[in-house]
Amino acid sequence: MVETRIVVPSETELQEAINEIKDSEPDFGIPRVCAALRTSHSTWQVSEKRVRKFMGSMGLIQTGGDQNIVPKSSVAPGDFVTTLAKGQVEVKHIDNTKGKGVFATCDFNQKVNVFEETPFAWYPRWDTVGMGYHRGSDQKCQLCAREIERRGRGPRPVKCNGCTGWFCSSICKKEAEAKFHQIECAKNNPMFVELADACYKWDWGAPMAAARAIERVLMEFEKSTEEGRLAWESLKAFTTVRADIMDMRRKGASWFLYEEDYRTKWKTTHALMRSSLFPPPVACGLTQFDKIPKKVRDEMFSYNEWLNLIGKYSLNDQNGGFYLLQSCFNHNCDPNCVVVHPNNGNYRAIIQTLRPIKAGEEMTITYVNPRGSVGERQQVLRDWYMFDCRCDRCVKESSQTNK
Ligand SMILES: [Zn+2]
Ligand SMILES: [Zn+2]
Ligand SMILES: [Zn+2]
Repeated sequence: MVETRIVVPSETELQEAINEIKDSEPDFGIPRVCAALRTSHSTWQVSEKRVRKFMGSMGLIQTGGDQNIVPKSSVAPGDFVTTLAKGQVEVKHIDNTKGKGVFATCDFNQKVNVFEETPFAWYPRWDTVGMGYHRGSDQKCQLCAREIERRGRGPRPVKCNGCTGWFCSSICKKEAEAKFHQIECAKNNPMFVELADACYKWDWGAPMAAARAIERVLMEFEKSTEEGRLAWESLKAFTTVRADIMDMRRKGASWFLYEEDYRTKWKTTHALMRSSLFPPPVACGLTQFDKIPKKVRDEMFSYNEWLNLIGKYSLNDQNGGFYLLQSCFNHNCDPNCVVVHPNNGNYRAIIQTLRPIKAGEEMTITYVNPRGSVGERQQVLRDWYMFDCRCDRCVKESSQTNK
């Protein structure tokens, strides 16, 4: 007689199995997910209670009131942020609802530049800059989106010799190559063009930004395993909600109501990303790819992480970019700081104070148009950033509206 070994799956195993079922059968409720689990993993011992608890924590079921899902975030380790902060600000964990926040470590006057930052990864809008082979590629710099000036006294623009993309200077070209272009240039990676084309057709920049974030991590691994790990941890530290969960929440509906279309797009872009980046073609010249720890690679290229990255982009997108330090600022409808992008470019972000700030005070920016009414602001914050604003201004204005 064959003895059937009963196994209790780990959290990760259970997560993957449930995700797989939900991906193909998004309208399955708990009993049907349990039944599907018994079929796909006949030796597993999983109680319905455990499945319910797990799906609840992942936001996969309606739990009566939708207050349970809070975007996850953590404080990025080490160098990137510390270097940017120049000892004048610090990022601290506040609590599990608010996540992290930025605090002044010295006094600031009104209208001073606190710091300047270039994005960890970014993908500007299509109409701002084409992609080396889309319309507009010769108009704006592929790195910083500055206008290409073929006349005049500025730095000389340079064309990539592998694609039709232009850079406003050789400095931008070098930086773009070191951060992403070496991997995605059409000459080195023809498959990547397919991902770009799909996104272009759908006018959807999030997968491009997600792919560039992965490329940045790969390029850091080229320097050393240590820098690669740091980049990966920093990327993970950005506030996250899975794109599918965010979408479901935004529509206030259960799984079967959100469009089939989106599911197809997530799957298609994931497949195209994998076929162009896992691993990148030899022509891209990466030599350290095989040395990336298997655990990091498995996670980074998984479908689950792809949804995480796209959700991350929705939550952190600042003019198309993932900014390590700027993204740590919490929202306030009456903020004490503002983000500006100088020279009509979107690439560099400068944080400026709007009024004097004392050491120890939290520094905030606004995620929404501050001219909106309290109702309008709260709606956008709830739908797109998944929190209820309880800033002083909201509290005051809500009590006035309720009178
Ligand atoms: Zn440039
Ligand atoms: Zn190129
Ligand atoms: Zn508010």
